[in-house]
Amino acid sequence: MPFTSKRRKTCPEKTSDFFESLPDDLLLSILCKLSATASSPSDFINVLVTCKRLNSLGLHSLVLSKASHKTFLVKPQNWCDSVHRFLKHCADAGNIEACYTLGMIRFYCLQNRGSGASLMAKAAMNSHAPALYSLAVIQFNGSGGTKNDKDLRAGVALCARAAFLGHVDALRELGHCLQDGYGVKQNVAEGRRFLLQANARELAAVLSTVGNKRPWVTWNLPVPHPRLRLGTGSGCPLLSDYGCNVPASETHPASKFLSEWFVIRSGSLGSGMRLCSHSGCGRPETRRHEFRRCSVCGVVNYCSRACQALDWKFRHKAECAPVERWLNDDGEDVAAGENGDGDDEIMANS
Ligand SMILES: [Zn+2]
Ligand SMILES: [Zn+2]
Repeated sequence: MPFTSKRRKTCPEKTSDFFESLPDDLLLSILCKLSATASSPSDFINVLVTCKRLNSLGLHSLVLSKASHKTFLVKPQNWCDSVHRFLKHCADAGNIEACYTLGMIRFYCLQNRGSGASLMAKAAMNSHAPALYSLAVIQFNGSGGTKNDKDLRAGVALCARAAFLGHVDALRELGHCLQDGYGVKQNVAEGRRFLLQANARELAAVLSTVGNKRPWVTWNLPVPHPRLRLGTGSGCPLLSDYGCNVPASETHPASKFLSEWFVIRSGSLGSGMRLCSHSGCGRPETRRHEFRRCSVCGVVNYCSRACQALDWKFRHKAECAPVERWLNDDGEDVAAGENGDGDDEIMANS
């Protein structure tokens, strides 16, 4: 049929003429929107491979600086050099989320501590709260170095900056540090205030994402806490400290990536090295016995007090049981079934 074949011939030409006449800045603004809202890397890549012009404009630093984690982050099983390169391009373009994500991946997954930490520092200098908090965890644990590299004061200072930006884990960590006098002068009342603030923010975060079908509030105690019964009657104080739990808020995509990475590459963890027992964390130890153990059972271990507090609330409380303990020949505290070379500290439940 000559008619259709003619149409087929002319149409693409017309479209391409029209496309060529579009100014670069208009295409750039469309591509920026796309990189910020794409639901997967393939959504973005499919546009890049359409033609040369979209390919070069799509890799413009303006577009890469706007890319969201859904655009630049793949599943750990699909990690490869080209994904790494793309993430690096985004970080180089000033994309703070990409700096933090690549920083975490390099530091923990690829064990490239120096460049990982400096990428996180770049994000932290731009007031990226998760980056500030992650650097605090590194300082508290002396991650990537030895036990003597722990810098509690630096950890507290970083935590305070992240807490100031409203980061819930940082607020919780800072609260515990103040309560215990860990890296900072002890101030129980102030610590308590930070813990309450963490709970309130956690609740606010959950309320803002309500709309899913799961029950978002569950009572913890068979009998309500006496302070609840004395309430003013204008609703309940929905704080976990008062016996009421809300589900865990969304974990950061970088933490999710780490968790999945170590699930599928369990061999990449050095021998004797453990993952933080809080499932939403994903941080592995960078040396043996880096993380502290639960003081009651000794079978779980955490990168931070914040992870311990969360895991206790959502999971560990139900399964924690005291284990027979004794001191070994070197006077170390050892739980039954452990091999006894542990020099890791224990962590009391709060
Ligand atoms: Zn953790
Ligand atoms: Zn325990």
